[in-house]
Order: sequence, then C-alpha cells, then structure tokens
Amino acid sequence: MPSADASLIRTRRPPHLKDGRILLTRHRKSAQRFERVLLLNGNHVENQLAELRSKLGIDPVRSQWFSRCLVCNTLLTEAPAEKIRENVPEHVYHENILKIRFCRSCGRCYWPGTHRNRMEEQLRQWGF
Ligand SMILES: [Zn+2]
Repeated sequence: MPSADASLIRTRRPPHLKDGRILLTRHRKSAQRFERVLLLNGNHVENQLAELRSKLGIDPVRSQWFSRCLVCNTLLTEAPAEKIRENVPEHVYHENILKIRFCRSCGRCYWPGTHRNRMEEQLRQWGF
C-alpha cells in the first residue's frame, strides 16, 4: 500500500501529462516545476503562435481548425437533429443546418458564424 505522501504526489500530477500533452505557459516557475512544458516569451497571441511554430515545428492543418470544443476540447461531430433544435437559434438552424457541429461531452453546438469568420481572418493575417 502506498504511503500518504506517495498518494499526494500522484494526485498532484498535472492532467496534461496523462494525454501526452505539452503545457504552454508564460509563467517561469510553472515551466521549472512541471515536465513537458514550453515556456512562451511572447506577450501577444500572434507572437506565441509563431513561437509554437518555430519551437515545436507545429504547422496547423486548416481542415482541422474549429474541429474541437472550445470548452472541453472534445472532437466535434455531426449534430443530432434534436440537439440542434434544442440549442441553436431558429435563423442559425435554417442557414447552417449542414454545418452545425456538436460536442458529445458537454452538449454545446457550434456553427460557422461571424465570430468564426473573424478568427479565420485574424489567423490569415498572422500567416496561417
Ligand atoms: Zn465540449
């Protein structure tokens, strides 16, 4: 049976390690404290994305943009009709019926509205 101290260490293990992820931070102490960390130096998102590109060699695949839930990071799927009716405004439903995606984890619906268009334009301006 593990000691109480060993149990505490296990429960404090950062969740990102379970999935093989890399923790992104601008906090130097966090960068020193955890495994698999990338310390970002940029103050602005544009500079931070450029750092990700250069330090990790990440080149985002456009077809995968907006494919995950913004809240829980679950891969989005085709939305069941009853979920669309419950969670999407009527005009959005009629304009985007084939483009609405659904998060099976938290139940949120996503569609390509003006907010997404602005994000795509911003990413294009940053060279993505
Ligand atoms: Zn979700």
